Amino acid sequence: MTSMFSDRIADVPKSFIREILKTTLNENVISFAGGLPNRDLFPIREIKEACNKVLDLFGAEILQYSTSEGYEPLREWISKRYRDHKGITVDKNNILITTGSQQGLDLIGKTLINEGDHVAIEEPGYLGAIQAFSLYRPVFEPILMDFNGLRTDSLKPALEKAKIKLLYTVPNFQNPSGVSHTDQNREEVARLLMGNGTLLIEDDPYGELRFSGERRRSYFDRLPGMTILLGSFSKIFVPSFRIGWIVAPDNLMEKLLIAKQASDLHTNYLAQRVLYQYLSDNDIDLHIRRICEKYRSQKNAMVSAIKRYFPEQVRCSNPDGGMFLWAILPEGIGARAVFDEAIKDNVAFVPGDPFYVRPIKANTMRLNFSCVDEATIETGILKLGAILKRFAV
Ligand code: PMP
Repeated sequence: MTSMFSDRIADVPKSFIREILKTTLNENVISFAGGLPNRDLFPIREIKEACNKVLDLFGAEILQYSTSEGYEPLREWISKRYRDHKGITVDKNNILITTGSQQGLDLIGKTLINEGDHVAIEEPGYLGAIQAFSLYRPVFEPILMDFNGLRTDSLKPALEKAKIKLLYTVPNFQNPSGVSHTDQNREEVARLLMGNGTLLIEDDPYGELRFSGERRRSYFDRLPGMTILLGSFSKIFVPSFRIGWIVAPDNLMEKLLIAKQASDLHTNYLAQRVLYQYLSDNDIDLHIRRICEKYRSQKNAMVSAIKRYFPEQVRCSNPDGGMFLWAILPEGIGARAVFDEAIKDNVAFVPGDPFYVRPIKANTMRLNFSCVDEATIETGILKLGAILKRFAV
């Protein structure tokens, strides 16, 4: 019987993480499985004030349809922030406001990927990118990672083997691993890509959540004209507004705009105006510092508990920012089997499996620290450590 569904959607697996999250809804479960920002830090009062102010000041104007590119002063704000905080020159006309950076990924897929095109993606990689691109039916080329970033001994042969159209990467505090590419790694990756026509997609929703170490120079700066940057307000403000952006060269911008119009005409205009009012009336740097302080303390609690309770053979990342930490179990131990035991003891994490574009029995685990308080982190890691000791003997 022929399926009612398009081949495109039939091939995309449903999000395994959502399935896992369902099992963790029970309030007795200590969950390191989520990927959410800490809700205790949402600026509720300031958002309320900004909402009232824009409605009082601008009334019906902000409830009308608006431009597909996004609210111009917000695009200017983003351009200025790149200049002041990252030393990058981005013209506001090259910024497209999107409905979360997740929509940015979909628009990139729509605009650039033909069925069968080779798309390189870091492994492990962000599940939402795997899902978004899968709909356009590329051939994925997984590029292995280590704790320094992308492995050039994996990237080089991939570039030699096939014409890679896009390389997708999250170079700062990656989801799922928390790994950031070192400066040397960025230099080597940029050197390999230089002049071979591959577009680099630099997805950077976590870059501002740095709580130690020095900022690293962006690929956008290293591979000018060949890098598409994605950004988001989800982790530094709130995710529910669904506001992100794409920075793209002129020719691509024109096509992205067509894809954007076809998708949703424009991103929620009221949300853009409330956000802009919030940014005008408040010190976002102070707010980001508060988030970073909290996440630093949570991350330190997790790293310290891991040192005390996990078996020595388990290797973990120790990120300078972001929301995740990555654990690598000894070869042969399946993280899903560990998960099945952990959930019986009311602790959850995400087994690495869904972050790979090839089916494997992953020996890796993603641990989220942003949503669990320090005392609960201690209890959860103690429990997890006891379970891991049963596996890693
Ligand atoms: N990219 C990465 C690496 C992410 O982790 C996320 C969200 N978890 C997104 C993009 C999408 O974020 P948003 O749509 O909220 O901007």
